[in-house]
Amino acid sequence: MTANTDKINLLGLSQDDLEQFLVARNEKPFRARQILQWIYQRGVNDFEAMTDLSKALRAELYANAEIVAPIVRSRHDANDGCVKWLFASGSGQSVETVFIPEEDRGTLCISSQVGCALDCSFCATGAQGFNRNLSSAEIIGQVRHAIAELPRRSNGEAAVSNVVFMGMGEPLANYRNLVPVLELLVSDWSYGLSRRRVTVSTSGIVPHINKLADDCNVALAVSLHAPNDELRNQIVPINKLHPISTLLDACWDYAKKRSNRFITFEYVMLRDVNDSLAHANELAELLKNKPAKVNLIPFNPFPGSDFRRSSAETIRHFQSRLRDRGLVATTRRTRGDDINAACGQLAGKVSDRVKVRLGEKRIGQRMSSA
Ligand code: SAH
Ligand code: SF4
Repeated sequence: MTANTDKINLLGLSQDDLEQFLVARNEKPFRARQILQWIYQRGVNDFEAMTDLSKALRAELYANAEIVAPIVRSRHDANDGCVKWLFASGSGQSVETVFIPEEDRGTLCISSQVGCALDCSFCATGAQGFNRNLSSAEIIGQVRHAIAELPRRSNGEAAVSNVVFMGMGEPLANYRNLVPVLELLVSDWSYGLSRRRVTVSTSGIVPHINKLADDCNVALAVSLHAPNDELRNQIVPINKLHPISTLLDACWDYAKKRSNRFITFEYVMLRDVNDSLAHANELAELLKNKPAKVNLIPFNPFPGSDFRRSSAETIRHFQSRLRDRGLVATTRRTRGDDINAACGQLAGKVSDRVKVRLGEKRIGQRMSSA
């Protein structure tokens, strides 16, 4: 996307910032709500089309502001109805967004960074390294584009009913740009999604989990993937900074602030690494009597990774053991894998990487990146 540097891009601006922009120009703050509706609900890019604003305000906007959306590079449609878009993110790079239709909902999985610095050993994005944070406009632009392009559901509602930050990048490592996007997703003047239907997935940046609880209390998913520090240090290196006990304390505080709504714990099933019944027992012990549910994710392979997916039988037994021990546990269905759109397969195109390796000991992965 190319923005004119003299003009402010209104896409991705929070309602507060938009109000300030207007007040500084002697306009009433409520105009912000009208502008939000034009941008997000009606998908308008041209101030001339905002017919309930005065001519003078439209001229002012035209002179000082613009609405610049990310540019779509390509679209791929999977056999199961999933759609993947590649958005240009500068210097020939791209990030990916995936739409996953289901009977009762349509989930959009969006990216927050170009690559990721956290270097989890089983993740294609991590293997790509990190280039930069996406701007708020680039993040909300993914949602706006998908909504504009996808047909409405048969009940007349927008195709996207749920948004999950499970694409490329670690959303809590891009906190400043994340918060305005969350506000726009739940605001009645833009997409008006319920907070239950917006999920931030994190590998466990504890200080920002604490902050998020106060700033924008949406649903939280935590990529746990191992029931003890020894194993988690190896596959999720951020664990060395924020070990499991600190992470879980932050999770329970977060849940309390959301009237004890469940936190989802993601657990990627890696053959012979974290998938034994002993691991299941340990995991159940860690989460028992807590507002927690576990979502098992069959590992999705990508070029350069030597991990293997646990067998369907192992996953079934693991899930049953968790249930026997009183946990709510589900297994995520693999979707969109014919277009490389499944969890952890999103690699986009990352060059100019600024690789910050947190992990020293990596298992199951060749050092060459994808
Ligand atoms: N950075 C955030 C969100 C993006 S990753 C996080 O780590 O939570 C979204 C989910 O996909 C995470 O649970 C992540 O651990 C999982 N994932 C990563 N690589 C995977 C792979 N190869 N197969 C299956 N799931 C994977
Ligand atoms: Fe980053 Fe999440 Fe991948 Fe880990 S799993 S490398 S935090 S995107």
